[in-house]
Amino acid sequence: MPNLVQLNHMEINNHYDAIVIGAGPAGLTAGIYLSRARVKTLILNEGTVGGQMILTHEIANYPGVDSISGYQLSNIMKNQAKKFGCDIKANILVKTLNLKADVKEVILADGIRYTADVVILSPGGRSRTLGVKGEDKLKGKGISYCATCDGDFFTDKEIIVIGGGNSALEEAVSLTKYASKVTIVHQFDHFQAFEFAIDEARNHPKINFMMESTITAFHGNEKLEGVEITDLKTGNKQNYPIDGVFIFIGYIANTEFLEGKLELNKWKEIVVDTDMQTNLKGVYASGDSIAKHYRQVTTAVADGTIAALAASKYIHELHKNNTLQKAL
Ligand SMILES: Cc1cc2nc3c(=O)[nH]c(=O)nc-3n(C[C@H](O)[C@H](O)[C@H](O)COP(=O)(O)OP(=O)(O)OC[C@H]3O[C@@H](n4cnc5c(N)ncnc54)[C@H](O)[C@@H]3O)c2cc1C
Repeated sequence: MPNLVQLNHMEINNHYDAIVIGAGPAGLTAGIYLSRARVKTLILNEGTVGGQMILTHEIANYPGVDSISGYQLSNIMKNQAKKFGCDIKANILVKTLNLKADVKEVILADGIRYTADVVILSPGGRSRTLGVKGEDKLKGKGISYCATCDGDFFTDKEIIVIGGGNSALEEAVSLTKYASKVTIVHQFDHFQAFEFAIDEARNHPKINFMMESTITAFHGNEKLEGVEITDLKTGNKQNYPIDGVFIFIGYIANTEFLEGKLELNKWKEIVVDTDMQTNLKGVYASGDSIAKHYRQVTTAVADGTIAALAASKYIHELHKNNTLQKAL
């Protein structure tokens, strides 16, 4: 068991000016800006550094970079942050936090505790999945959750869109720019979307509908080859050859560990102001986990920049006040 001197030593070593939770593009960008501003920073990330970027085999819409794999872009961002002195720890799950006091506590799944003057929350999110056979295996190999990211890969191909809300209908229309035919498969006999979105989809010559139906299996090995569609009224199943399936059935922010700790909206997204500050002093958030409409690498990077700049200013003021108080 550590004695008091060892404990104090451990606590000093575990104190950072800023701790960032999540090493996706938002968290890594925050790490780059903070470290470059000489803010002692630690990034903690569950799993491999890079977040959702590492699920992306090609990112073709990151300005200034013609085309790059998500894994490569993650590595560049990681090395850039490290070059400025940022500590990054992978495969570390943050279990809970105490965010209300001036010194914030970050507690890991294995009980280790870090403290910081500032916390930036960048835990990202995940698309809701159908949860049927073959989906995990064929994600990114014909199954996509992002039209902006992957629509172009299906030029002149036939695709299915799953969902019946505004996102599904709007994305189905946007995918007609690429695909030769779009079939919207929806579990109910009506859509849960605005009238104008429904009308636009219904009147589009490239869009067809399969109502009261759902996909119950995905087929293929190296890439998606077809789907099993079940008619929910009759229970009849049919196999349907297809090049691509886009799933738009909702989005989940990775904020389960933040419930009760700070303000979340009804979708459990973190509420921030224009400086990315949450309702708590010294606590900022950035990226896909905040309340916003558009979720891309570029928007995550922009949020991370703003959060880090605002947090640096906060830390600077805090240190200045502490120095003044000590001098009095
Ligand atoms: C298949 C796919 C393809 C995409 N393609 C593109 C594209 O081509 N172009 C584009 O611009 N965007 C694309 N996107 C969207 C883009 O990847 C995201 O918008 C972006 O990664 C969000 O960044 P983020 O930093 O907010 O979160 P994330 O990338 O989700 O990273 C969050 C990180 O935080 C970690 N984390 C969560 N909870 C904890 C915790 N409790 N403790 C520690 N760590 C935690 C997560 O494990 C993760 O590593 C794609 C997304 C997917 C899924």
